[in-house]
Amino acid sequence: MSYLTLKNINKIYPNGYHAVHNFCMDIDKGEFIVFVGPSGCGKSTTLRMIAGLEDISNGEFLIDGKRANEWGPRERQIAMVFQSYALYPQMTVFDNIAFGLTLQGVDEEIIEEKVKNTARILGLTDYLDRLPRALSGGQRQRVAIGRAIIRKVGVFLMDEPLSNLDAKQRVTMRSEIAQIHRETGATTIYVTHDQTEAMTLADRIVVMKDGYVQQIGTPYDLYFKPVNVFVAGFIGEPPMNFIRGVVRGGNISFGGNVLELEKKLGSRTGDYEGKEIIFAFRPEAVTLGGAEDAYQAEALVELTEMLGDSVNVYITAQEEKAILKVDPHDTPEIDSSITFSIPYKDVYLFDGETENVIL
Ligand code: ADP
Repeated sequence: MSYLTLKNINKIYPNGYHAVHNFCMDIDKGEFIVFVGPSGCGKSTTLRMIAGLEDISNGEFLIDGKRANEWGPRERQIAMVFQSYALYPQMTVFDNIAFGLTLQGVDEEIIEEKVKNTARILGLTDYLDRLPRALSGGQRQRVAIGRAIIRKVGVFLMDEPLSNLDAKQRVTMRSEIAQIHRETGATTIYVTHDQTEAMTLADRIVVMKDGYVQQIGTPYDLYFKPVNVFVAGFIGEPPMNFIRGVVRGGNISFGGNVLELEKKLGSRTGDYEGKEIIFAFRPEAVTLGGAEDAYQAEALVELTEMLGDSVNVYITAQEEKAILKVDPHDTPEIDSSITFSIPYKDVYLFDGETENVIL
């Protein structure tokens, strides 16, 4: 049986705004789940309903098979780490981590043992006597996490916990959060708008848009099997290229390059004659020059961006644009004309109207 169950969860705020629509999901013990999506899509609202900080307007939330809609935050055995880590400035790291247990009147020896164990997991052992102001942003965030994980709870909720850190600290802290999860094995739900954080941390990702779940799946599934244009465009950097076109004579055109749909759709091609289709491929799927079992196209190089391990090549073909990601040793000249190949297997087709994946 799953540990957490969300059955058709809805949130309608008192002002009438419907922020979350029919959220459904089963979460197993120990899973690391990430809610991802653009700002305002309902991630925090869902998290806060799980935490018991926000009423569930409609639907049912179960913990271990029991209805928990009416339970208070404490009863739910959930700890939450917020964006702003709000440590007590006048208290040492030790006292900050111990705070919850001290309030509960837990025995001092037990507190000492637990704080030391938590500090070890978080690499804070040498900082226990310091005040928060003498710590880096990353260390402060670890103290905030320590405060949450020291309590024996069933679920950790984290709302954009890395957003106050600089880019480098975020990368370090990201791997530390993964490490903490491996050590504690705690069921975790993590909210972020950053697809890289989602991809690197999650066992399963929930992609949301405008209050609706778009897709739930492993990072692998979301990258290779996106169900619609939104998910396909949200996961991956630079984003997937989308070429919209009406199917004429079984083909669509990318800036004058004829792309034969039959290569991808086979006998189903006829079904799409006269309809709008979105032909899509990831920048990293292409190779320069010709190739077997691949679409070929010609385009003009507008701009190149050297990233070190790869180069982003911005191309245009009669006003239509795309981005290719290639080996830096093959960087084409700006303003030159290039041929590139997109393997058939790496092409996605979406319905132009519903934007759902066809193949
Ligand atoms: P996210 O975490 O994905 O950025 P939120 O869950 O915070 O999104 O918000 C989802 C939507 O609900 C937003 O449009 C937001 O403006 C709206 N919202 C959030 N809180 C309230 C509230 N208390 N009353 C009315 N609308 C709210």
